[in-house]
Amino acid sequence: MDQDLLRRIPSVDSLLARPAQQELIAHHPRDLVVRAVRAALADLRETLGRAPSEDHLSPTAIDSAVQAKLAARLAPSLVPVINATGVVLHTNLGRAPLSSAALGAIRETCEGYSNLEFDLVEGRRGSRHTHLEDLFVEHTGAEASLVVNNNAAAVLLILATLGAGREVIVSRGEIIEIGGSFRLPDVMAAGGARLVEVGTTNRTRLADYEAAIGPETAMLFKAHRSNYAIVGFTAEPTRAELVELGRRHRLPVVEDLGAGSLTDLASLGIDEAVSVARPIREGVDLLCFSGDKLLGGPQCGVILGRATLLADLRRHPLYRALRVDKMTTAALEATVREVHEGRAAESLPVLRAIASDQTELHARAERLAARIAALGHEGLEVGLAHGHSKVGGGSLPQTELPTWRVVLRVAGLSAAELDRRLRASRPAVVSLVGSGAVQWDLRTIGEEDHEALTEALAGALG
Ligand SMILES: *Cc1c(COP(=O)(O)O)cnc(C)c1O
Repeated sequence: MDQDLLRRIPSVDSLLARPAQQELIAHHPRDLVVRAVRAALADLRETLGRAPSEDHLSPTAIDSAVQAKLAARLAPSLVPVINATGVVLHTNLGRAPLSSAALGAIRETCEGYSNLEFDLVEGRRGSRHTHLEDLFVEHTGAEASLVVNNNAAAVLLILATLGAGREVIVSRGEIIEIGGSFRLPDVMAAGGARLVEVGTTNRTRLADYEAAIGPETAMLFKAHRSNYAIVGFTAEPTRAELVELGRRHRLPVVEDLGAGSLTDLASLGIDEAVSVARPIREGVDLLCFSGDKLLGGPQCGVILGRATLLADLRRHPLYRALRVDKMTTAALEATVREVHEGRAAESLPVLRAIASDQTELHARAERLAARIAALGHEGLEVGLAHGHSKVGGGSLPQTELPTWRVVLRVAGLSAAELDRRLRASRPAVVSLVGSGAVQWDLRTIGEEDHEALTEALAGALG
C-alpha cells in the first residue's frame, strides 16, 4: 500500500469546509452530509488500497463521490417497479396493484378526517365494519363479514377464538405451507388449537372426519391447496358432505380459501374453486381469503359467514390487534364497489392482466419491440417469443396463461448483467432471465410502461 497516497486523503473537516459540501449543508441536515463524507472517504481508502493512483485524490472526484453517497441516502427505499415477469400476483412485488378507484378513495378519505368509526346519522360512535358489511352481504349472501390485516391473521383469529384449547380436524392433504413461514400446524399452535390430522396425503374420506370427532372437537377445517396439487389416486369429501357432517355434530365448518374471487373467472380459464360465493352458498360457516390476491384489492384478510361466529371473533382481544386501518378500509370498499357495480373487469388491474388474451398481448409485444428496435442500438437483438404467465401469489399453481414476451439479447453483455442494470434503473425493471436472454412478459406490463421500459433499456445499454 502506498503510504504517501494514504496520507494525502483529506480529513472530514477539510472536506466539509469546501464549497461543494457547504452547498450540500445549505440544503440538507449537516449530519447527513457528514455521514456521506465519511462513507465517501471509506470508499476512497479502499480504492487506494486496491489501485493506488493520484487520480482518485482529485477534489472534484471526491466531491462527486460525496454527492453520490448523499443521494443514495436520500433516495426512498420502497420504489415503483415495472413487473415484467408476467406473474400477476407477485408476492415480492406487492401482489395486487390497486385500481384508480381504490387509490382515489384512500386519498379522499385519508387526507383529512373520515367517519371511520362515527355514525353520521346518529352523531355518535359507529363501527368500522359498517362500511363493508352491507356490500359483502349483498354480494356474497353471507350473513356478516369482518376484515383483518391479512388472511394469515384471519386464520389465526378464527383458530384462537373458536379452537383454543380444543381440537381442529384437518385432512392430511391440506396441511398447507404458504411462502413466508405460514405453516398451518404452526398457526394452529399459535392459536392454541390442537391439530387433528385425518386421512392420508392423497385420500381422505368423510368417515375419517367423522371418526375423529369427539367432545374436544371445535371445528372441521378445510384449507385450499393454493400452491400445490394432488393428482392421481385421490379422494376427498365434497364441501356439501362436510357441511352436512358439521351440522349433524353441531360443529362449524371453516374454510381457508386463500385466493378468493368475487367475480366469475371461469370465462378466463380460471378454476371456479376460487369463487367466494360458492362455499357460502354451500353452507360453510366461516370462509376466509386474502384481499390482495384475486380480489385485486389491498392487503387484508376477509372473513365471511355466520353472524354469531363473527360476533365472537370481534370480541376476541386479538381482533383489536389484527384489525385494519382506514387506508385499507377505504381501498377495500372501493375495490368491492367496482366488483359490485360491474366494473371490475375493466378497472381492477389484476383482472385486466388475467383477462388479456394472446392476440392483444402479441400486438402489445410488437409495439414494444418496435419501440426498442427504434433505439437503433448496435448489438441489441430484439425478438418475440410465446410463453406462459402465472397467476402467482400462491394461487392456482396449475393455471398457465398463454402469453407473449419481448426477448432481449445484447452482444458482449450477459443477460444477468443486463438484468442487474435494469433493476438499478428507476423505475426499476424486474425481468425474467432465461435462454441467455432478458425476457419481458407483456401480461403484467401496461401500455403506459412502454416508454419507461425503453428508457431503462437505453440507460442500461449506456
Ligand atoms: C395466501 C394464503 C394464505 C395467507 O394469506 P395472506 O393474505 O398472505 O396472509 C393463507 N392460506 C391460504 C390457503 C393461502 O393461499
